[in-house]
Amino acid sequence: MDGCLFCQIAKKEIPAAVVYEDDTLIAFKDIFPQAPVHLLLIPKAHCSGLADLTPETAAAAARIPQVAARLAAEHGVEASGWRLLSNNGADAGQTVFHLHFHLLGGKPLGGKLCL
Ligand code: 5GP
Ligand code: ZN
Repeated sequence: MDGCLFCQIAKKEIPAAVVYEDDTLIAFKDIFPQAPVHLLLIPKAHCSGLADLTPETAAAAARIPQVAARLAAEHGVEASGWRLLSNNGADAGQTVFHLHFHLLGGKPLGGKLCL
């Protein structure tokens, strides 16, 4: 989608530290990491969030947990633990309106999902 930051990253129009890519997914390091491991996993095709899935983006998004587990292992947090989450909408704190999942790990992340 025109003007979408993560579409531009997926198309390599804007640089990012890409850690995984296949036909329909791409993962890259968060530019403002909140943990030693902080990756973003996105479908390459645009959708704004989980309420906006199409068959194409749903099929890509369904593969994200498996790719996240592989990336967690590759980034050394498989044993220590990691978190996969997606913010959807204003109250959740979503700031980039292209569906993405945060993979966080490398430190104790705390027990609270909601402050
Ligand atoms: P949200 O708040 O929407 O769940 O997460 C958006 C994430 O995108 C934030 O963690 C933010 O740091 C990250 N981010 C914003 N702009 C960029 C960018 O240009 N490059 C990368 N790699 N991450 C970004
Ligand atoms: Zn987009």
